Amino acid sequence: MKLAAGKLTRWILIGLGAGIVVGLIQYLTLPADVNAAIIKWVHNPLGVVFLNAIRLMVVPLVLVSLTLGTAAIGDLSKLGRIGGKTMGIYLTTTAIAISIGFILATTVHPGTNLDIPVEGDFQGGESPFVMDIITDIVPTNPVSSMAEGNMLQIIFFAILAGLAIAKIGKKADPLMRGLESLDQVIQAMVVLIMWYAPIGVFGLIAKVVAGEGFAVFVPLLKYMFCVVGALAIHGLVIYPLYLMILTKLNPWRFYANIWPAMLVAFSTSSSNATLPVTMNVAGTRLGAKESIYSFTLPLGATINMDGTAIMQGVATVFIANVYGIDLTLGNFLTVVMMATLASIGTAGVPGVGLIMLSMVLTEIGLPIEGIGIILGVDRLLDMTRTSVNIAGDLMTTTVVAKSEGEFDVARFLAANKPE
Ligand code: ASP
Repeated sequence: MKLAAGKLTRWILIGLGAGIVVGLIQYLTLPADVNAAIIKWVHNPLGVVFLNAIRLMVVPLVLVSLTLGTAAIGDLSKLGRIGGKTMGIYLTTTAIAISIGFILATTVHPGTNLDIPVEGDFQGGESPFVMDIITDIVPTNPVSSMAEGNMLQIIFFAILAGLAIAKIGKKADPLMRGLESLDQVIQAMVVLIMWYAPIGVFGLIAKVVAGEGFAVFVPLLKYMFCVVGALAIHGLVIYPLYLMILTKLNPWRFYANIWPAMLVAFSTSSSNATLPVTMNVAGTRLGAKESIYSFTLPLGATINMDGTAIMQGVATVFIANVYGIDLTLGNFLTVVMMATLASIGTAGVPGVGLIMLSMVLTEIGLPIEGIGIILGVDRLLDMTRTSVNIAGDLMTTTVVAKSEGEFDVARFLAANKPE
């Protein structure tokens, strides 16, 4: 079952635009208490229902489709090859992303001569111990992994189950047929939920705009300019280069095809919550085969966050500027390493970038209270970087699927034909 190509995207865009306009009018014209009441009684529920509904599908979707995908791939060496390519692209694009953020920020100096108070009280998280991140991938209880939505553990369990199914062959046929049918049902549920997306997106966006207005952004415009500029360079130059060199596909058509998923990522600020939509788009609009995207996308939503890495690069320079601290090349390399590691250990949910940033800052000895300065504008940036995060996951999926011959070019070319 496919997401209606043009129509749904159009309606989601209308929901987004209406959310901005209504939110802004409300923010500018209504008394604060009335504004707060509308957010609480109207916008918030509309948005939360949507968010809950798509998050509802994440665990069943990943579990079933990845088990099927692995069973279809069958052998360990092919899985290893696909995994190697995927990780290779995820890691190189993330390193490039942080570097772009760094270079742009060291050129613009967004935090010099700024006199802004540290608002908000940001509590940094403990840095996870690297070995724990690795050992925790193997779950002790699959039911609790699913109840907690621990993506890496679910991925591990599904791959193991898929390999076992492939190994016992014919004897697993009834189970395979059941899983295939369940997979169809789950995908149809995602499509049903997406019919509500325009209203959900409206609620989520109106809530942010009505709640924060635009005034909070003014003192931090330079910082935001750097983050958004670096995101644009990454999305409009680096990804197209990967696509053109490695797949020879037209990058603009790629973006036209993945647009619905980017809009949902923008309004939910969560790669994880967007996953059902990202997977639907990969299969029905990009033309990637389920055996590839069922593996690359859940992994990407968890560990590949190029947009977040960009924010970390820029924020580190910004906070160093504000406190008048000079960064060395060693600091730069530490940030690249820490940001990549931190992104492996944290899930793609709203605001997680800030937790990762606190680990990065601690590692190079910058004051984490600095995060309080950028807290106010993080919501909007979170939306933007999450869109880039999932674009990166889908770009990698396209490259890997094409290189494995698991890609339907005709579908890629047909996705935007008017219905
Ligand atoms: N919200 C982002 C995501 O889900 C992570 C972050 O940058 O906070 O991909």
